Amino acid sequence: MQKRKVVIIGSGVAGMTCAIYLKRYDVDVLVIEKDAPGGQMLKSSVIENYPGFINIDGPSLSYKIYEQVNNLKVDYLFDEVVSVKNEDGKKIVQTKHDKIESEYVVLATGRTSRTLNLDREKEFIGRGISFCALCDGNLYKGKDVVIIGGGNSALEEAIYLSNICNKVVIVHRKDKFTAEDSMIETISTLKNVEIKFKANVEKYNIIDDKIKSVILDTGEEIKCDGIFIAIGYVPINDLIDVDKENGYIIVDNNNETSIKNIYACGDAIKKNAYQIYTAIGEATNVSYSIIKQIKQ
Ligand SMILES: Cc1cc2nc3c(=O)[nH]c(=O)nc-3n(C[C@H](O)[C@H](O)[C@H](O)COP(=O)(O)OP(=O)(O)OC[C@H]3O[C@@H](n4cnc5c(N)ncnc54)[C@H](O)[C@@H]3O)c2cc1C
Repeated sequence: MQKRKVVIIGSGVAGMTCAIYLKRYDVDVLVIEKDAPGGQMLKSSVIENYPGFINIDGPSLSYKIYEQVNNLKVDYLFDEVVSVKNEDGKKIVQTKHDKIESEYVVLATGRTSRTLNLDREKEFIGRGISFCALCDGNLYKGKDVVIIGGGNSALEEAIYLSNICNKVVIVHRKDKFTAEDSMIETISTLKNVEIKFKANVEKYNIIDDKIKSVILDTGEEIKCDGIFIAIGYVPINDLIDVDKENGYIIVDNNNETSIKNIYACGDAIKKNAYQIYTAIGEATNVSYSIIKQIKQ
């Protein structure tokens, strides 16, 4: 069994930032990634709020960060972690094909948007189907969009998009919203927002490789240029039993979890803003906490 000082699980922006900081301090580090480096950034067609770039597409930003990691000769294992065990203070990381012992583990496993699992959905994520109005809203300036969901995040998206788009239609499966009253009130004052209660999107209507409309289970067709799915996120956090709230890992000021020497950062943790820059900040904090521990 190979032994490592630090194992980082996940190579999104959080995991890669952590690797950069630790490796630059000459810490022995292994990054384990089940997919491609970049995580959710790979799904983002345009990023306009990352300081230093007026805009950059997610895959390019991912590649630039990965290049930096590679330049430092960080070790990678492309495999899926299936469990992490804490045995007498030692951490045992079990992947599908390997077992690694380490002193520290960083959980940077991120989260994934809940989807509707409809036909061709995956194909159109980032080019017609989005999960983030703040990130992708500008792509639909003056156009018509559909928002799916009825909670706080769906209504937040609707309020934001109503300022940019020509028309916003909210499709919600229940007969009333589950969002805060103040938000529901705001929505009711917006002239370009229409609401379809007790309706589910059954099909994306795609013509000439472009989203043209959605078909509801009521039989109605709603024309649109873009679709925002806001039916929640699912954190990817089932590797070890640390303290969590609604599935998100709870960390202290050092970004340490309820188990000593197991740290977490990025979208996997409970926090306010799920953004690239917050993930970078937390990953930096994790690295400093581990370096401080090692120095002691
Ligand atoms: C469509 C979209 C657009 C966005 N636009 C913006 C934007 O414009 N600006 C902005 O600031 N933020 C944006 N965000 C949010 C931002 O992308 C995320 O907050 C950030 O990328 C989270 O990074 P992370 O490293 O914490 O997690 P992730 O990016 O989710 O990375 C986690 C990584 O861990 C890997 N992993 C998970 N489980 C395992 C396992 N068991 N074994 C091995 N590997 C595993 C995954 O494969 C993944 O690569 C957007 C998000 C989406 C989805």
